[in-house]
Amino acid sequence: VGERSLIRLRGTGHSYGGVVALRDIDLDVREGSVLGVAGANGAGKSTLAGILHGSLRPAHGVRESSGAVRTSLAPEGRGLFRTLSLRENLEVAAYAAGITGAALRERLEETVQWLPVRLRDRMSVPAAGLSGGEQQMLAVARALIVRPDVLIVDEPALGLAPALVDEVYDRLIGLTHDGLTVVLLEQSLSRAMAVCHEVAVLHEGVVAAQGRPGDRQFAALAESAYFSGG
Ligand code: ATP
Repeated sequence: VGERSLIRLRGTGHSYGGVVALRDIDLDVREGSVLGVAGANGAGKSTLAGILHGSLRPAHGVRESSGAVRTSLAPEGRGLFRTLSLRENLEVAAYAAGITGAALRERLEETVQWLPVRLRDRMSVPAAGLSGGEQQMLAVARALIVRPDVLIVDEPALGLAPALVDEVYDRLIGLTHDGLTVVLLEQSLSRAMAVCHEVAVLHEGVVAAQGRPGDRQFAALAESAYFSGG
């Protein structure tokens, strides 16, 4: 894990009408790391995901990132086109990023390599015909097709059987071996602690604790921060 911050938030906050979703967030996404953001329902994870991605402009504070840093978001709920095939879902994402022709074919080939073998043979199946775990893999693959520097994945475990969660996570973590930086928004603190290099605990829109899972003091702190804000 490098020390270089690819994305930096300082004093960042956001609200929807009168509802404060995030307050005074200081956060660094470090190159080559897996940063976990753990928080309960409504803690502000999806709002933070949008801000890190760059698609949601924060109402307060700053988001700093070099223009050369490409981010890609696999949103909560996956956001797939259910009637389009697996291949078409990937193609649409590529088109949207301006990738066409021979480049598109190359990207498809590269992206499909990341999918489990059983899915590579099912490129023509509509997204709705895939299992929950397979849909989640597709959502991540669709985010990967733009060759991001930072991949942001919002609650990939949502609605998945435990065995599938493990498979999705193994594949996500595998991506970092190729130098990809990953931000994982996660409802389960224990899962975030198990797979991430760094964890920020989000409680009611505030980063209530932040540290490394190997640090025993932090592990105890994270638990109380998750449930009561510390
Ligand atoms: P969940 O896991 O339930 O999706 P979350 O941790 O991702 O929650 P957010 O979706 O970021 O949290 O929501 C944070 C807060 O902002 C919540 O109180 C939520 O009700 C509110 N909120 C989110 N989006 C909107 C919106 N579009 N309009 C109004 N309030 C919103």
